[in-house]
Amino acid sequence: MSNNPNKKIVIAVDGFSSCGKSTFAKMVAAHLGYIFIDTGAMYRAVTLYALEHGAFTNGILDEDKLIAMLDDIHIDFRFNPERGASDIYVGGEWVEGKIRTIEVSNLVSAVSAVGEVRRRLVAIQQQMGRDKGVVMDGRDIGTVVFPDAELKIFMTADPEVRAERRYIELTAKGEEVSREEIVENIRQRDYLDQNRAISPLRKADDAIVLDNGGMSLKEEMEWFDKVFSSI
Ligand code: C5P
Repeated sequence: MSNNPNKKIVIAVDGFSSCGKSTFAKMVAAHLGYIFIDTGAMYRAVTLYALEHGAFTNGILDEDKLIAMLDDIHIDFRFNPERGASDIYVGGEWVEGKIRTIEVSNLVSAVSAVGEVRRRLVAIQQQMGRDKGVVMDGRDIGTVVFPDAELKIFMTADPEVRAERRYIELTAKGEEVSREEIVENIRQRDYLDQNRAISPLRKADDAIVLDNGGMSLKEEMEWFDKVFSSI
């Protein structure tokens, strides 16, 4: 099948933590004039809310407490022209700065393993992508959210490379964090995301693998152009 540029499709980008999925998905969306949706930000936003409203005690999640608060968590995205992407808000508050800390990263996998959280967020994601023309990144987009997506990409890279990227990103924002802490967080999240009972991270059978370990962003886009023109 040759791709008709006027026919909008759904592009699912899944993969391991800190692979550069969002950077890649954002570039692809800008390139095609599509909407970029970062589903990890939604799980992070729910985690932040849970954290700020007492659903965690000493790092342990009280699932019932979290489920009881889900009706009060109102998430929305608003386009930020400076970033060329949408920022996430919870209850009208801009939370981009708060959701990417190591604290939230360490707790998010517990929240994303809760079935009721997934059921609600998946429903919102499916609604957001119903008109197609979206690039959505996450862990279960090609397997659960849009199993019929016309193009599925599964991203991976060596854990050391991923940790280094995340280290540079967080320290550039002024967060005090060690390399060891980041390696441990990535290792933990990879494990928990792949081994949870509901919608574990796995490559969809029809996904194309992109190992971007040694690639520049330009090379990633050249790779994408080739794939896109071949579908
Ligand atoms: O993509 P990001 O690293 O920001 O995602 C944060 C966490 O949210 C993941 O480690 C995973 O636990 C969860 N997640 C998920 N399903 C998605 C997107 C993210 O379970 N579609």
